Amino acid sequence: MPRPISARIHLDAIRHNLRAVKRTAPSSRVWSVIKANAYGHGIERIYPALAEADGIALLDLDEAVRVRELGWTKPVLLLEGVFEPKDVETADRHRLTVTVHCEEQLAMLEAARPRERIDIQLKMNSGMNRLGFRPGEFERAWRRASAIGSIGSIGLMSHFANADDGAIDWQIDAFDAVARDLPGTRSLANSAAVLWHPRAHRDWVRPGTILYGASPTGCARHIEDAGLRAAMTLSSRIIGVQTLTPGETIGYGRTFAADRPMKIGVVACGYADGYPRHAPAGTPVAVDGVSTRIVGRVSMDMLTVDLTPCPAAGIGSSVELWGERIKVDEVAEPSGTIGYELMCALARRVPVAVDAGVMAEKEAHTV
Ligand SMILES: *Cc1c(COP(=O)(O)O)cnc(C)c1O
Repeated sequence: MPRPISARIHLDAIRHNLRAVKRTAPSSRVWSVIKANAYGHGIERIYPALAEADGIALLDLDEAVRVRELGWTKPVLLLEGVFEPKDVETADRHRLTVTVHCEEQLAMLEAARPRERIDIQLKMNSGMNRLGFRPGEFERAWRRASAIGSIGSIGLMSHFANADDGAIDWQIDAFDAVARDLPGTRSLANSAAVLWHPRAHRDWVRPGTILYGASPTGCARHIEDAGLRAAMTLSSRIIGVQTLTPGETIGYGRTFAADRPMKIGVVACGYADGYPRHAPAGTPVAVDGVSTRIVGRVSMDMLTVDLTPCPAAGIGSSVELWGERIKVDEVAEPSGTIGYELMCALARRVPVAVDAGVMAEKEAHTV
């Protein structure tokens, strides 16, 4: 028997979250962001849940080709554009839309002879200071792009630095001040701006993390308030039980000592599975559906949990590390990270199953 750890990907949750995005930004088309192998969920696995998206956005060319090979005929956007001239050929061959964020990328498109014109998203650096033309350079970049024969449509895009925790009007104002007089579709909003900044919705929104039911702020309550569902469940089982007397410690570093007689469950899940080693004692976990906490240091293949709230639990009891009951953000936050990182870091050794969901059958009947 393999180790009892496994992950499940719930396609109905992704469908539900995508519909929630569409309800929240009803006038916008949706680029579903599936970079980093769909935030760790697996592009091929989640693909059937993306049918209602208007486009797919990612940044690895191989991933873009995989999406085309799956049969996706709607737009595919490369969020970082091309990295070298031969990428323009790949973009041409697979009808990819490319972000253009610097003069060097414009030069590659100028030099290219694609079979068909390539649609671009011209990116403005409106304050994030990562990729894009500064507002003062943007109109000139737009003029240069419009003169390039190999370029088709030119959309205008930008990205927010703190849509998750603050005012973003300053970035929208910086964008609008320059973009006002230029034609083309607009695309500004990441997940946080989809949820909380309707002014940013525009023609296309670009949600990533909320499709998977993880919070853009790192705060689990925001996901619950928005009615979003977890797309990934990481579960395992108890493979050992220890009964501690007061003063005895658990695991490496002896970081946790029992202050009373305690029953401890040893769970087949460790940092080599993608569980954060920095998760402190108190991080929530569910055993047989009952919420409890981890105690002691997370090791490579195991972690330990307090069985006080679930005294009937023993070897073989089911454990939810994160999923519908224990939000991935509740594990990430005390570990000093965000759900995004935990989902992306799910280890290859964890077997993954897909829960196709009931909506899949309905879809089959409607086509
Ligand atoms: C990753 C990314 C997104 C999606 O961000 P979320 O916070 O996951 O919604 C949108 N736009 C760009 C340019 C990105 O790189």
